[in-house]
Amino acid sequence: TRFWDEAGLPAPLLKAVASAGYKSPTAIQMMALPLGLAQRDTIGVARTGSGKTAAFLLPMLVHVDKLPRLTRETAADGPYGLILAPTRELVQQIEDEAVKFAQHLSPPARVYSIVGGISVEEQGFVMHRGVELLVATPGRLVDALESRYLVLAQCLYLVLDEADRMVDLGFESQLTAILERMPKDTDKPDEPDALLQAGKLYRQTFMFSATMPPAVEKIARTYLRSPAYIYV
Ligand code: AMP
Repeated sequence: TRFWDEAGLPAPLLKAVASAGYKSPTAIQMMALPLGLAQRDTIGVARTGSGKTAAFLLPMLVHVDKLPRLTRETAADGPYGLILAPTRELVQQIEDEAVKFAQHLSPPARVYSIVGGISVEEQGFVMHRGVELLVATPGRLVDALESRYLVLAQCLYLVLDEADRMVDLGFESQLTAILERMPKDTDKPDEPDALLQAGKLYRQTFMFSATMPPAVEKIARTYLRSPAYIYV
């Protein structure tokens, strides 16, 4: 439809949206896409089923596609985008949706998930070749950071999906530990590649939560920069 065409999605992602069969956008997609493309930090109060996954993945992929693909040499600084979600099942769903879109880019953006059950060595091997988008639960991600095969120095796009559930599951301290190891959002948003070249990293953060308990408010206040709120 006209919305997708006029939203400013590049051709490969328009094709991806069409192949996914997403004829018209959902409410959250209509609100989140322009904010995401403008690099605005955003808090979406939305539930599963609202189409929130595509709402954060599409702007993220637009930005990530402008950055050079990570190589063996640069992979030590990757990934560019990180999506944190409370459960293994949700991580899997997000990874599937991300692959669906990312495979239409050329070259495709590589998506990988970090969940339990896969050896640290195997995860390290894949990460070492370069992964542009990483999806993980907070606990496993902290393990990966501590195993030192993953750094978040170039991670410019962060999504906290179902933030209230992550806090309910006891992940608040892991979330804080992860956020403290990412680029800070000090500069005005601009083209990410220009910022990277200038050695300045601006982080964009999306947070989705069905409810806003105090612990989630606190994370938002501390780590998001004048976020826009979307309620659906
Ligand atoms: P989510 O809320 O992101 O978990 O999405 C819920 C379901 O809706 C998923 O199966 C998506 O593939 C699907 N979906 C997301 N956006 C659209 C859309 N614009 N049109 C049709 N289906 C969609």
